[in-house]
Amino acid sequence: MSGPPGTLRRARCTVPIAWAVAPRLRSTLPPRDRRVPGQPRLERALVCRTVSARQAQVAVIGGGIAGAFAAYFAARAGARVTLIERDRVGAHASSNNPGGLNPLYGAGIPGPLASLALESFRLHESCARDGDIGVTPEPKRRLNLALDDADAAALRRLETVYDDAPGFSVSWLSGRELRECAPRLAPSIELALLAEGDLHVNAARYTAAVAAAAECHGATIQHGLVTGIARDGARAEAVHTASGPIACDAVVVATGAWSDEPAAWLGVRLPIAPVKGELLLAELPGGAVALDLAWNMVAIYRVDADRVLIGGTETDSGFDERCTARARLALLDEADRILPGINDAEVVGHFAGLRPVTADGMPIVGLAPGWENVGLALGGGRKGMLLGPAMGKAATDLLLDGSTDLCFDACSPERFA
Ligand SMILES: Cc1cc2nc3c(=O)[nH]c(=O)nc-3n(C[C@H](O)[C@H](O)[C@H](O)COP(=O)(O)OP(=O)(O)OC[C@H]3O[C@@H](n4cnc5c(N)ncnc54)[C@H](O)[C@@H]3O)c2cc1C
Repeated sequence: MSGPPGTLRRARCTVPIAWAVAPRLRSTLPPRDRRVPGQPRLERALVCRTVSARQAQVAVIGGGIAGAFAAYFAARAGARVTLIERDRVGAHASSNNPGGLNPLYGAGIPGPLASLALESFRLHESCARDGDIGVTPEPKRRLNLALDDADAAALRRLETVYDDAPGFSVSWLSGRELRECAPRLAPSIELALLAEGDLHVNAARYTAAVAAAAECHGATIQHGLVTGIARDGARAEAVHTASGPIACDAVVVATGAWSDEPAAWLGVRLPIAPVKGELLLAELPGGAVALDLAWNMVAIYRVDADRVLIGGTETDSGFDERCTARARLALLDEADRILPGINDAEVVGHFAGLRPVTADGMPIVGLAPGWENVGLALGGGRKGMLLGPAMGKAATDLLLDGSTDLCFDACSPERFA
């Protein structure tokens, strides 16, 4: 599915179980083995959409950005949705991140994730236009800094990608222009690529707003730990919670880094590891930077006139979400190389989250292998805020319609089966 980053390839991906959510309606649909040869799948999917989506009871497990968007799109399509979250909506990675919606770089971009990343970016934009999510993504300008020749070479590659993508642009800054944009930059930094066209959100507020929008469309948010799935053959019939079972016609699993238990319930492989990231919120003496600064693994994100976020670390610490002194020192030290004096900032917040990163870096989205009515929206990794709408929408499209227009070829759960 790779293609030039500016191009959205529309490949309809169809799942052969279009009537997954409406067993009681199966008699009204052509049985699979008696389907008229050559009958288009689209027609069958549309029959399903007009009938089953309205009647389906969909249980979404997990209230991060992927679960919130799954609940939103399913409820918007007319399903009766219950989102079950054991802590609170956005309690984990989906609040503790800088909210960058940057579709043109990252693992698999350019490459197999490029089309999906842009599709998801456009979904953020179209949801904002629709107006029922109370927080709107805002434009973000970023100075990508070059400290040596290798950095400059990497930025030249990024330049090509931005140049090719409609709605995005880049320009090189040096000398006086660069100093005007970032007067406090380390004097040794003489070259930067200014990128425009990306968006960002306040992650905690955005995730809560998406869940609230799902509620406006009729979804219920229930506090509770899901402990298993009741099945009848290849179909999920209910999810088990501490306060009893919740009957359902379809399930979306969106449990972020906590995938081992769902994998055991479903009997499928979900190789997802927690990659911990920590961020500092700091008040800079003399005010915040005017635009984001990025170099290597460190970035300084403007929050408002006084504050910046400094991020982010990457460590393998299992499911430990504590904020550590080691990360705080490392972040300040790295940031000080690009913005000298940042060590004197007052650190007013310190956050940590677990990125759900798959074995091959690609998300896991689609029907769970061997199941007719369980969708997976997992493994957003380092791009989960960006990919949340596409992951949530694809999982619910597949369950309610039997197909999706989104480019999920490289994300199939079958690749780990
Ligand atoms: C420091 C940092 C920086 C990042 N920067 C960016 C960025 O700039 N842009 C970007 O796109 N992405 C970024 N990310 C990645 C992004 O934050 C994640 O990929 C994304 O938030 C994952 O969302 P999720 O919904 O899959 O998982 P989560 O947010 O972890 O949500 C999963 C939810 O499921 C719940 N749950 C789990 N098991 C159960 C159960 N059995 N029953 C009930 N509930 C359950 C959990 O409590 C949790 O709330 C960053 C991440 C970090 C940590």
